[in-house]
Amino acid sequence: MKEIHEECGVLGIYGVDQASRLAFLGLQSLQHRGQQGCGIAVEGEDGDIRLHKGAGLVKDVFKEADLARLAGRNCIGHVRYPTTDVGGMENIQPFKMTGKAGRFALAHNGNIVNVDIIREHLESLGHIFSSSSDSELFGHLIGIGRAPNGWVENIISAAHLLDGAFCIVILADGVLYACRDKYGFHPLSIGRLGDGYVVASETCALNSLGAEFIRDVEPGELISIGPEGLKSYRHSLYVGRRMCAMEYIYFARPDSDIEGCNVHAFRKLSGKILFEEHPVPADLVTCVPESSMSAAIGYAEASGLPLEMGLLKNMYVARTFIQPAQSLREIGVKMKLTPVRGVVRGKSVAVIDDSIVRGTTSRQIVKMLRDAGAREVHMLIASPKYAWPCFYGIDTGTREQLIGSSKTVEEIRDFIGADTLNYLSEDALFRASGRTTLCTACFSGHYPTDLYGHEG
Ligand code: AMP
Ligand code: SF4
Repeated sequence: MKEIHEECGVLGIYGVDQASRLAFLGLQSLQHRGQQGCGIAVEGEDGDIRLHKGAGLVKDVFKEADLARLAGRNCIGHVRYPTTDVGGMENIQPFKMTGKAGRFALAHNGNIVNVDIIREHLESLGHIFSSSSDSELFGHLIGIGRAPNGWVENIISAAHLLDGAFCIVILADGVLYACRDKYGFHPLSIGRLGDGYVVASETCALNSLGAEFIRDVEPGELISIGPEGLKSYRHSLYVGRRMCAMEYIYFARPDSDIEGCNVHAFRKLSGKILFEEHPVPADLVTCVPESSMSAAIGYAEASGLPLEMGLLKNMYVARTFIQPAQSLREIGVKMKLTPVRGVVRGKSVAVIDDSIVRGTTSRQIVKMLRDAGAREVHMLIASPKYAWPCFYGIDTGTREQLIGSSKTVEEIRDFIGADTLNYLSEDALFRASGRTTLCTACFSGHYPTDLYGHEG
Protein backbone atom coordinates (compact mmCIF):
# COMPACT_ATOMS: atom_id res chain seq x y z
CA MET A 1 0.00 0.00 0.00
CA LYS A 2 1.35 3.40 -0.95
CA GLU A 3 1.95 5.62 2.04
CA ILE A 4 1.22 9.27 1.50
CA HIS A 5 2.59 11.56 4.14
CA GLU A 6 1.91 15.23 4.05
CA GLU A 7 3.13 17.72 6.58
CA CYS A 8 1.76 21.09 5.81
CA GLY A 9 0.63 24.47 6.97
CA VAL A 10 -2.62 26.17 5.96
CA LEU A 11 -3.77 29.75 6.10
CA GLY A 12 -7.01 31.53 5.30
CA ILE A 13 -7.75 35.27 5.20
CA TYR A 14 -11.21 36.81 4.98
CA GLY A 15 -12.26 40.41 4.40
CA VAL A 16 -8.86 42.09 4.41
CA ASP A 17 -7.45 44.38 1.71
CA GLN A 18 -4.57 42.91 -0.26
CA ALA A 19 -5.22 39.52 1.31
CA SER A 20 -2.64 37.75 -0.87
CA ARG A 21 0.16 40.05 0.31
CA LEU A 22 -0.72 39.20 3.89
CA ALA A 23 -0.89 35.51 3.01
CA PHE A 24 2.58 35.85 1.45
CA LEU A 25 3.86 37.06 4.84
CA GLY A 26 1.76 34.67 6.91
CA LEU A 27 2.91 31.64 4.93
CA GLN A 28 6.52 32.60 5.64
CA SER A 29 5.71 32.28 9.35
CA LEU A 30 4.48 28.77 8.59
CA GLN A 31 7.46 27.92 6.37
CA HIS A 32 8.87 25.49 8.95
CA ARG A 33 5.78 23.32 8.29
CA GLY A 34 6.68 22.84 4.65
CA GLN A 35 9.40 23.89 2.26
CA GLN A 36 8.75 21.86 -0.85
CA GLY A 37 6.02 23.94 -2.37
CA CYS A 38 3.45 26.59 -1.64
CA GLY A 39 0.52 28.43 -3.14
CA ILE A 40 -2.14 31.08 -2.67
CA ALA A 41 -5.67 31.11 -4.13
CA VAL A 42 -7.56 34.41 -4.08
CA GLU A 43 -11.17 35.21 -4.79
CA GLY A 44 -11.31 38.36 -6.90
CA GLU A 45 -14.02 41.03 -6.93
CA ASP A 46 -15.52 39.27 -9.97
CA GLY A 47 -15.89 36.05 -7.93
CA ASP A 48 -13.26 34.30 -9.98
CA ILE A 49 -10.60 32.29 -8.13
CA ARG A 50 -7.02 33.03 -9.13
CA LEU A 51 -4.22 30.72 -8.11
CA HIS A 52 -0.46 30.86 -8.05
CA LYS A 53 1.66 28.01 -6.75
CA GLY A 54 5.06 26.49 -7.30
CA ALA A 55 7.92 24.45 -5.91
CA GLY A 56 10.19 26.10 -3.37
CA LEU A 57 10.10 28.57 -0.52
CA VAL A 58 7.35 31.19 -0.26
CA LYS A 59 9.81 34.07 -0.81
CA ASP A 60 10.99 32.48 -4.09
CA VAL A 61 7.66 31.28 -5.50
CA PHE A 62 5.89 34.66 -5.33
CA LYS A 63 7.17 37.61 -7.32
CA GLU A 64 5.67 41.09 -7.15
CA ALA A 65 3.76 40.50 -10.40
CA ASP A 66 2.15 37.33 -8.98
CA LEU A 67 0.96 39.12 -5.86
CA ALA A 68 -0.36 42.02 -7.96
CA ARG A 69 -2.36 39.57 -10.07
CA LEU A 70 -3.81 37.93 -6.94
CA ALA A 71 -5.99 40.90 -6.03
CA GLY A 72 -8.85 40.31 -3.62
CA ARG A 73 -9.96 40.37 0.02
CA ASN A 74 -10.37 36.63 0.60
CA CYS A 75 -7.72 33.99 0.10
CA ILE A 76 -6.29 30.68 1.25
CA GLY A 77 -2.65 29.55 1.25
CA HIS A 78 -0.60 26.44 1.81
CA VAL A 79 2.98 25.27 2.44
CA ARG A 80 3.96 21.66 1.90
CA TYR A 81 6.77 19.48 3.21
CA PRO A 82 9.09 17.32 1.09
CA THR A 83 8.18 13.64 1.20
CA THR A 84 9.89 10.46 0.13
CA ASP A 85 7.32 9.15 -2.29
CA VAL A 86 5.14 11.95 -3.53
CA GLY A 87 6.90 15.06 -4.69
CA GLY A 88 5.32 16.24 -7.93
CA MET A 89 4.11 19.72 -8.76
CA GLU A 90 0.59 18.27 -9.07
CA ASN A 91 0.51 17.78 -5.30
CA ILE A 92 1.22 21.40 -4.45
CA GLN A 93 -1.82 23.17 -3.02
CA PRO A 94 -4.24 24.97 -2.90
CA PHE A 95 -6.33 23.01 -5.41
CA LYS A 96 -8.78 24.94 -7.52
CA MET A 97 -11.72 22.73 -8.42
CA THR A 98 -15.12 22.88 -10.03
CA GLY A 99 -17.90 20.46 -9.16
CA LYS A 100 -21.67 20.23 -9.23
CA ALA A 101 -21.70 22.63 -6.33
CA GLY A 102 -19.66 25.24 -8.17
CA ARG A 103 -16.11 26.54 -8.06
CA PHE A 104 -13.92 26.44 -4.99
CA ALA A 105 -10.32 26.33 -3.75
CA LEU A 106 -9.08 24.11 -0.98
CA ALA A 107 -5.92 23.48 1.06
CA HIS A 108 -5.34 20.72 3.57
CA ASN A 109 -2.95 19.71 6.36
CA GLY A 110 -2.91 16.15 7.67
CA ASN A 111 -3.39 12.64 6.42
CA ILE A 112 -6.60 10.75 5.77
CA VAL A 113 -6.31 7.08 6.75
CA ASN A 114 -9.23 5.61 4.79
CA VAL A 115 -8.16 7.37 1.60
CA ASP A 116 -7.73 4.18 -0.46
CA ILE A 117 -11.26 2.90 0.10
CA ILE A 118 -12.88 6.20 -0.82
CA ARG A 119 -10.59 6.82 -3.74
CA GLU A 120 -11.34 3.37 -5.15
CA HIS A 121 -15.05 4.01 -4.80
CA LEU A 122 -14.84 7.39 -6.52
CA GLU A 123 -12.67 5.95 -9.30
CA SER A 124 -15.26 3.22 -9.85
CA LEU A 125 -17.78 6.04 -10.36
CA GLY A 126 -15.54 7.55 -13.03
CA HIS A 127 -13.70 10.22 -11.05
CA ILE A 128 -10.26 11.01 -12.43
CA PHE A 129 -7.61 12.30 -10.05
CA SER A 130 -4.81 14.56 -11.16
CA SER A 131 -2.66 14.14 -8.04
CA SER A 132 -1.84 11.50 -5.44
CA SER A 133 -2.84 13.86 -2.65
CA ASP A 134 -5.70 12.90 -0.37
CA SER A 135 -6.63 16.57 -0.29
CA GLU A 136 -7.86 16.25 -3.86
CA LEU A 137 -10.09 13.43 -2.64
CA PHE A 138 -11.65 15.83 -0.15
CA GLY A 139 -12.23 18.21 -3.03
CA HIS A 140 -13.98 15.53 -5.11
CA LEU A 141 -16.26 14.67 -2.19
CA ILE A 142 -17.17 18.32 -1.69
CA GLY A 143 -17.53 18.85 -5.42
CA ILE A 144 -20.11 16.09 -5.94
CA GLY A 145 -22.35 17.41 -3.17
CA ARG A 146 -25.39 19.40 -4.25
CA ALA A 147 -27.12 19.89 -0.95
CA PRO A 148 -29.85 22.55 -1.12
CA ASN A 149 -28.16 24.59 1.58
CA GLY A 150 -24.88 24.56 -0.26
CA TRP A 151 -21.33 24.43 0.89
CA VAL A 152 -21.80 23.82 4.61
CA GLU A 153 -23.72 20.62 4.02
CA ASN A 154 -21.39 19.53 1.24
CA ILE A 155 -18.33 19.98 3.45
CA ILE A 156 -20.01 18.23 6.38
CA SER A 157 -20.96 15.25 4.18
CA ALA A 158 -17.38 15.03 2.90
CA ALA A 159 -15.89 15.29 6.39
CA HIS A 160 -18.23 12.49 7.57
CA LEU A 161 -16.74 10.05 5.11
CA LEU A 162 -13.10 10.75 5.92
CA ASP A 163 -11.23 9.29 8.86
CA GLY A 164 -7.88 10.59 10.03
CA ALA A 165 -6.22 13.95 10.32
CA PHE A 166 -7.36 17.04 8.47
CA CYS A 167 -7.23 20.76 8.94
CA ILE A 168 -8.78 22.17 5.83
CA VAL A 169 -9.46 25.66 4.51
CA ILE A 170 -11.87 26.26 1.63
CA LEU A 171 -12.79 29.35 -0.31
CA ALA A 172 -16.14 29.31 -2.12
CA ASP A 173 -18.72 31.92 -3.15
CA GLY A 174 -17.32 34.71 -0.99
CA VAL A 175 -17.03 32.60 2.17
CA LEU A 176 -13.99 31.14 3.95
CA TYR A 177 -14.53 27.71 5.56
CA ALA A 178 -12.21 26.01 8.03
CA CYS A 179 -12.70 22.50 9.26
CA ARG A 180 -10.81 20.28 11.70
CA ASP A 181 -11.02 16.50 12.14
CA LYS A 182 -12.90 15.11 15.13
CA TYR A 183 -9.73 13.91 16.90
CA GLY A 184 -8.08 17.32 16.72
CA PHE A 185 -4.71 15.94 15.57
CA HIS A 186 -3.24 19.19 14.28
CA PRO A 187 -3.70 22.81 15.36
CA LEU A 188 -5.89 25.39 13.61
CA SER A 189 -6.47 28.81 15.15
CA ILE A 190 -8.73 31.76 14.36
CA GLY A 191 -7.69 35.39 14.70
CA ARG A 192 -9.30 38.77 14.15
CA LEU A 193 -7.59 41.30 11.90
CA GLY A 194 -9.40 44.67 11.76
CA ASP A 195 -12.84 43.87 10.34
CA GLY A 196 -11.54 40.65 8.85
CA TYR A 197 -10.33 37.24 9.99
CA VAL A 198 -7.26 35.04 9.72
CA VAL A 199 -7.25 31.26 10.17
CA ALA A 200 -3.85 29.56 10.45
CA SER A 201 -2.19 26.28 11.37
CA GLU A 202 -0.22 28.04 14.09
CA THR A 203 -0.70 31.15 16.18
CA CYS A 204 2.79 32.37 15.16
CA ALA A 205 1.24 33.28 11.78
CA LEU A 206 -1.57 35.22 13.49
CA ASN A 207 0.99 37.08 15.59
CA SER A 208 3.18 38.00 12.65
CA LEU A 209 0.17 39.46 10.81
CA GLY A 210 -0.93 41.41 13.87
CA ALA A 211 -4.14 39.39 14.19
CA GLU A 212 -5.68 38.95 17.61
CA PHE A 213 -6.19 35.32 18.62
CA ILE A 214 -9.89 34.53 19.11
CA ARG A 215 -9.98 30.77 19.62
CA ASP A 216 -9.03 27.44 18.07
CA VAL A 217 -11.26 25.64 15.59
CA GLU A 218 -12.62 22.80 17.74
CA PRO A 219 -12.15 19.13 16.85
CA GLY A 220 -15.14 18.09 14.72
CA GLU A 221 -16.05 21.70 13.98
CA LEU A 222 -16.62 23.49 10.70
CA ILE A 223 -16.60 27.28 10.76
CA SER A 224 -17.70 29.62 8.04
CA ILE A 225 -16.61 33.24 7.82
CA GLY A 226 -18.69 35.37 5.46
CA PRO A 227 -20.71 38.57 5.22
CA GLU A 228 -22.67 37.45 8.32
CA GLY A 229 -19.53 36.96 10.38
CA LEU A 230 -18.28 33.76 11.96
CA LYS A 231 -20.62 30.77 12.21
CA SER A 232 -19.98 27.40 13.76
CA TYR A 233 -21.27 23.97 12.70
CA ARG A 234 -20.41 20.44 13.74
CA HIS A 235 -19.49 17.70 11.32
CA SER A 236 -19.04 15.23 14.17
CA LEU A 237 -20.57 14.96 17.62
CA TYR A 238 -17.45 13.17 18.83
CA VAL A 239 -14.85 15.60 20.17
CA GLY A 240 -11.40 14.03 20.49
CA ARG A 241 -8.49 15.77 22.17
CA ARG A 242 -5.69 13.89 20.48
CA MET A 243 -3.33 16.69 19.60
CA CYS A 244 -0.19 15.29 17.96
CA ALA A 245 2.53 15.16 20.62
CA MET A 246 5.16 15.74 17.92
CA GLU A 247 3.63 19.17 17.23
CA TYR A 248 4.72 20.13 20.74
CA ILE A 249 8.00 18.18 20.66
CA TYR A 250 9.37 19.08 17.26
CA PHE A 251 7.09 20.36 14.57
CA ALA A 252 5.50 23.63 15.68
CA ARG A 253 7.34 26.92 16.18
CA PRO A 254 8.29 27.72 19.80
CA ASP A 255 6.37 31.02 19.75
CA SER A 256 3.10 29.27 18.84
CA ASP A 257 0.45 28.35 21.40
CA ILE A 258 -1.23 25.03 20.72
CA GLU A 259 -4.60 24.65 22.42
CA GLY A 260 -3.56 27.04 25.16
CA CYS A 261 -0.06 25.66 25.75
CA ASN A 262 2.96 27.58 24.50
CA VAL A 263 5.32 25.35 22.54
CA HIS A 264 8.53 26.81 24.02
CA ALA A 265 7.11 26.47 27.55
CA PHE A 266 6.20 22.83 26.82
CA ARG A 267 9.69 22.04 25.54
CA LYS A 268 11.42 23.85 28.39
CA LEU A 269 9.37 21.95 30.96
CA SER A 270 10.03 18.68 29.14
CA GLY A 271 13.77 19.47 29.43
CA LYS A 272 13.36 20.04 33.15
CA ILE A 273 11.52 16.73 33.55
CA LEU A 274 14.18 15.04 31.41
CA PHE A 275 16.75 16.14 33.99
CA GLU A 276 14.56 14.88 36.86
CA GLU A 277 14.20 11.54 35.11
CA HIS A 278 17.78 11.29 33.86
CA PRO A 279 20.48 13.39 35.54
CA VAL A 280 23.86 12.74 33.87
CA PRO A 281 27.42 13.50 34.99
CA ALA A 282 28.26 16.19 32.42
CA ASP A 283 30.31 19.42 32.39
CA LEU A 284 27.95 21.25 30.08
CA VAL A 285 24.64 21.03 28.19
CA THR A 286 24.26 21.67 24.48
CA CYS A 287 21.33 21.54 22.10
CA VAL A 288 21.05 20.42 18.50
CA PRO A 289 20.14 23.78 17.01
CA GLU A 290 17.45 24.92 16.83
CA SER A 291 14.70 22.42 17.44
CA SER A 292 15.94 21.23 20.84
CA MET A 293 16.99 24.67 22.12
CA SER A 294 14.00 25.07 24.45
CA ALA A 295 14.40 21.58 25.97
CA ALA A 296 18.14 22.20 26.48
CA ILE A 297 17.38 25.47 28.29
CA GLY A 298 15.05 23.52 30.62
CA TYR A 299 17.62 20.78 31.23
CA ALA A 300 20.42 23.28 31.90
CA GLU A 301 18.28 25.38 34.23
CA ALA A 302 17.15 22.35 36.23
CA SER A 303 20.62 20.80 36.44
CA GLY A 304 22.54 24.02 37.08
CA LEU A 305 24.97 23.02 34.28
CA PRO A 306 26.10 25.71 31.83
CA LEU A 307 24.23 25.80 28.53
CA GLU A 308 26.89 26.02 25.83
CA MET A 309 27.06 26.28 22.07
CA GLY A 310 28.61 22.87 21.46
CA LEU A 311 27.15 22.60 17.97
CA LEU A 312 26.70 25.26 15.33
CA LYS A 313 24.10 25.19 12.60
CA ASN A 314 24.70 26.35 9.05
CA MET A 315 21.35 27.98 8.30
CA TYR A 316 21.92 27.98 4.56
CA VAL A 317 21.84 24.21 4.09
CA ALA A 318 18.51 22.65 3.09
CA ARG A 319 16.81 20.32 5.57
CA THR A 320 18.26 16.81 5.64
CA PHE A 321 15.61 14.77 7.31
CA ILE A 322 13.86 13.47 4.25
CA GLN A 323 16.58 12.96 1.68
CA PRO A 324 15.87 10.12 -0.73
CA ALA A 325 19.07 8.21 0.11
CA GLN A 326 20.65 7.44 3.47
CA SER A 327 24.14 8.41 2.18
CA LEU A 328 22.87 11.85 1.16
CA ARG A 329 21.18 12.24 4.53
CA GLU A 330 24.48 11.53 6.30
CA ILE A 331 26.43 14.08 4.26
CA GLY A 332 23.56 16.49 4.83
CA VAL A 333 23.85 16.26 8.63
CA LYS A 334 27.62 16.99 8.44
CA MET A 335 27.02 20.01 6.23
CA LYS A 336 24.35 21.33 8.56
CA LEU A 337 26.02 20.92 11.95
CA THR A 338 29.58 21.53 13.11
CA PRO A 339 31.03 21.05 16.58
CA VAL A 340 32.58 24.04 18.35
CA ARG A 341 35.93 22.53 19.34
CA GLY A 342 36.89 25.08 21.95
CA VAL A 343 33.68 24.37 23.83
CA VAL A 344 33.63 20.56 23.81
CA ARG A 345 37.32 19.60 23.87
CA GLY A 346 38.08 17.52 26.97
CA LYS A 347 34.53 17.95 28.28
CA SER A 348 31.74 15.58 29.21
CA VAL A 349 28.87 16.86 27.05
CA ALA A 350 25.13 16.37 27.63
CA VAL A 351 23.47 16.70 24.21
CA ILE A 352 19.72 17.33 24.18
CA ASP A 353 17.84 16.46 20.99
CA ASP A 354 14.09 16.41 20.46
CA SER A 355 13.84 12.96 18.87
CA ILE A 356 15.64 10.03 17.28
CA VAL A 357 13.85 8.74 14.21
CA ARG A 358 16.26 6.77 12.02
CA GLY A 359 19.28 7.45 14.19
CA THR A 360 21.27 9.24 11.47
CA THR A 361 21.49 12.62 13.20
CA SER A 362 22.42 11.31 16.67
CA ARG A 363 25.09 8.99 15.32
CA GLN A 364 26.72 11.79 13.35
CA ILE A 365 26.52 14.19 16.28
CA VAL A 366 28.19 11.77 18.67
CA LYS A 367 30.96 11.11 16.17
CA MET A 368 31.59 14.78 15.41
CA LEU A 369 31.68 15.68 19.12
CA ARG A 370 34.15 12.87 19.82
CA ASP A 371 36.27 13.89 16.80
CA ALA A 372 36.28 17.42 18.24
CA GLY A 373 37.73 16.08 21.50
CA ALA A 374 34.68 15.58 23.75
CA ARG A 375 35.61 13.21 26.61
CA GLU A 376 32.09 11.81 27.05
CA VAL A 377 28.84 12.23 25.13
CA HIS A 378 25.55 11.75 26.96
CA MET A 379 22.59 11.81 24.58
CA LEU A 380 19.28 12.91 26.09
CA ILE A 381 16.11 12.80 24.01
CA ALA A 382 13.22 15.09 24.93
CA SER A 383 10.60 12.57 23.73
CA PRO A 384 9.91 8.87 24.28
CA LYS A 385 11.35 6.19 21.97
CA TYR A 386 9.88 6.72 18.50
CA ALA A 387 8.92 3.22 17.36
CA TRP A 388 5.72 3.37 15.29
CA PRO A 389 4.99 5.10 11.97
CA CYS A 390 2.67 8.07 11.87
CA PHE A 391 -0.42 7.92 9.67
CA TYR A 392 -1.66 11.38 10.56
CA GLY A 393 0.58 13.69 8.62
CA ILE A 394 4.05 13.66 10.17
CA ASP A 395 6.43 11.99 7.76
CA THR A 396 8.85 9.72 9.57
CA GLY A 397 9.03 6.77 7.18
CA THR A 398 8.00 3.15 7.56
CA ARG A 399 8.35 0.92 10.62
CA GLU A 400 11.54 -0.70 9.23
CA GLN A 401 13.17 2.73 8.91
CA LEU A 402 12.53 3.65 12.54
CA ILE A 403 15.49 2.62 14.66
CA GLY A 404 13.31 2.45 17.77
CA SER A 405 10.99 -0.16 16.24
CA SER A 406 13.48 -3.00 16.30
CA LYS A 407 16.24 -1.93 18.72
CA THR A 408 16.31 -1.60 22.48
CA VAL A 409 17.56 1.63 24.07
CA GLU A 410 20.89 -0.08 24.78
CA GLU A 411 21.18 -1.22 21.14
CA ILE A 412 20.42 2.30 19.93
CA ARG A 413 23.01 3.71 22.35
CA ASP A 414 25.52 1.27 20.90
CA PHE A 415 24.52 2.22 17.30
CA ILE A 416 24.90 5.96 17.87
CA GLY A 417 28.09 5.45 19.92
CA ALA A 418 27.08 7.57 22.95
CA ASP A 419 28.29 6.92 26.50
CA THR A 420 24.69 7.03 27.71
CA LEU A 421 21.32 7.42 26.00
CA ASN A 422 18.10 8.32 27.76
CA TYR A 423 14.59 9.15 26.60
CA LEU A 424 11.83 11.19 28.19
CA SER A 425 8.90 9.17 29.58
CA GLU A 426 5.48 9.27 27.93
CA ASP A 427 3.99 10.55 31.16
CA ALA A 428 6.25 13.61 30.94
CA LEU A 429 4.50 14.68 27.71
CA PHE A 430 1.23 14.96 29.61
CA ARG A 431 2.89 16.76 32.51
CA ALA A 432 4.68 19.23 30.24
CA SER A 433 1.53 20.04 28.25
CA GLY A 434 -0.84 19.99 31.24
CA ARG A 435 -3.11 17.74 29.17
CA THR A 436 -4.74 14.42 29.92
CA THR A 437 -5.03 13.34 26.28
CA LEU A 438 -2.68 13.54 23.30
CA CYS A 439 -1.85 11.39 20.30
CA THR A 440 1.28 9.48 21.27
CA ALA A 441 0.83 6.63 18.77
CA CYS A 442 4.36 6.84 17.37
CA PHE A 443 5.70 6.11 20.89
CA SER A 444 3.06 3.69 22.15
CA GLY A 445 1.59 2.08 19.02
CA HIS A 446 -1.90 2.97 20.29
CA TYR A 447 -3.47 4.67 17.30
CA PRO A 448 -6.58 6.78 17.95
CA THR A 449 -8.19 5.65 14.65
CA ASP A 450 -8.67 2.47 12.69
CA LEU A 451 -5.72 2.02 10.30
CA TYR A 452 -7.73 0.54 7.41
CA GLY A 453 -5.09 -2.02 6.48
CA HIS A 454 -2.04 0.20 6.96
CA GLU A 455 0.55 -1.61 8.99
CA GLY A 456 1.29 0.00 12.31
P1 AMP B 1 17.03 10.96 12.44
O1 AMP B 1 18.33 11.50 11.99
O2 AMP B 1 16.32 10.20 11.36
O3 AMP B 1 17.10 10.17 13.70
O4 AMP B 1 16.08 12.20 12.72
C1 AMP B 1 16.09 12.86 13.92
C2 AMP B 1 16.19 14.33 13.72
O5 AMP B 1 15.19 14.78 12.80
C3 AMP B 1 15.96 15.07 15.03
O6 AMP B 1 17.09 15.85 15.24
C4 AMP B 1 14.73 15.92 14.82
O7 AMP B 1 14.99 17.28 15.11
C5 AMP B 1 14.37 15.79 13.36
N1 AMP B 1 12.98 15.35 13.16
C6 AMP B 1 12.20 14.63 13.96
N2 AMP B 1 10.98 14.42 13.41
C7 AMP B 1 10.99 15.03 12.21
C8 AMP B 1 10.03 15.18 11.16
N3 AMP B 1 8.82 14.66 11.23
N4 AMP B 1 10.41 15.89 10.08
C9 AMP B 1 11.64 16.40 10.00
N5 AMP B 1 12.58 16.29 10.94
C10 AMP B 1 12.28 15.62 12.05
FE1 SF4 C 1 1.88 12.98 16.00
FE2 SF4 C 1 3.03 10.62 16.47
FE3 SF4 C 1 0.37 10.86 16.56
FE4 SF4 C 1 1.67 11.06 14.24
S1 SF4 C 1 1.51 9.24 15.53
S2 SF4 C 1 0.00 12.38 14.98
S3 SF4 C 1 3.58 12.06 14.87
S4 SF4 C 1 1.89 11.83 17.92
